[in-house]
Amino acid sequence: MSNIYGWQEEVWRKLTGTLGHALLLRGRKGLGKLAFARYLAKSRLCENPSVEGKACEVCASCHWFEQGSHPDFCLVEPEAVTATSVSGEGASEEGVETGDEAETQSLSKAVNQATSKSTKKPSRQISISQIRELGDFVNITSHQNGYKIILIHPAETMNPAAANALLKNLEEPPLQTLFILVTHQAQYLLPTIRSRCRQIAMPVPDAASAALWLKQQGVKAPERCLASAGYSPLTALEFANEDYLVRHSAFIQQISTPSSFDVLGLAEEMQKSDLVMVVSWLQKWCYDLMSFRMAQKVRYHLDMRAQIKSLASGLDPYSMAAYLRALDKTQQLARHPLNPRLFLEELLFSYVTVLSGEFRNRGKAG
Ligand SMILES: [Zn+2]
Repeated sequence: MSNIYGWQEEVWRKLTGTLGHALLLRGRKGLGKLAFARYLAKSRLCENPSVEGKACEVCASCHWFEQGSHPDFCLVEPEAVTATSVSGEGASEEGVETGDEAETQSLSKAVNQATSKSTKKPSRQISISQIRELGDFVNITSHQNGYKIILIHPAETMNPAAANALLKNLEEPPLQTLFILVTHQAQYLLPTIRSRCRQIAMPVPDAASAALWLKQQGVKAPERCLASAGYSPLTALEFANEDYLVRHSAFIQQISTPSSFDVLGLAEEMQKSDLVMVVSWLQKWCYDLMSFRMAQKVRYHLDMRAQIKSLASGLDPYSMAAYLRALDKTQQLARHPLNPRLFLEELLFSYVTVLSGEFRNRGKAG
């Protein structure tokens, strides 16, 4: 990326001058936070930045940065992110195996994955050893004036030991070192880490300019994709691929006709999908049902208004509220389900129960 996104210009201007020793860029997925953080790092390391503080793109430093070999820049990510994506800020993580089939495929995968040397599944967490290695990075002589930048993404994936190790660094910051933490879920960071960083809320573009941007990227139905992505433009861009759209609409089609909906069949069909993604589909669908029931508004599924209206008319809002809370908790478990098929069956049976208005009572009895 050779510049920041249009909706980030204003926040860029706020970041001229000294940055302190730690920044925390926060905001939901799909806003371009990682690209912004990388560009900020590249520009700060540039030998000849512009008056707006932007990278020149031609100096040796800019060249090293683009090659991924800058000696004064260190990117810390979970192995699973490094192994499956270049940009790192995907809306879904469908490249990561979640099911049992990963065991049988792991050998061939290991051959293909230059980054993964063992047949173990790549970790989704940032480990303490990754944070400890930063000690060496900080201590070796740097290329330019001793200035070094460490980018941690997504910061909420640091396990507790890693987070505590980082906290020590932030309490006694090494000289001439800038930490940039990028987080989609700042609430999962240690409060002591948050409080030691300068926090930057990353902007969400308004719907019209985001739709225009998507159109410029060649997206055919920008408004629909944007709504379905919860108004995060990069997520919408990812959603705009044919395969994703087909799978998503097949899923929604099924759960929007609960009278003929085959829970066991759908659970079996979806068991190899990324469950975090499936849970988020359900969350958005249920959010729309609830939102229509309470305020006649549809946020995510603009083209399904008629079906939403018909389902929402008989909906018990208390049951749905309880289910939405349960889905929130489920989202945490979806990364490591013991049995993906059973996980989905339970989720979908509960959904059917909610539509029948009995979820609240069942919850109380259980
Ligand atoms: Zn440069």
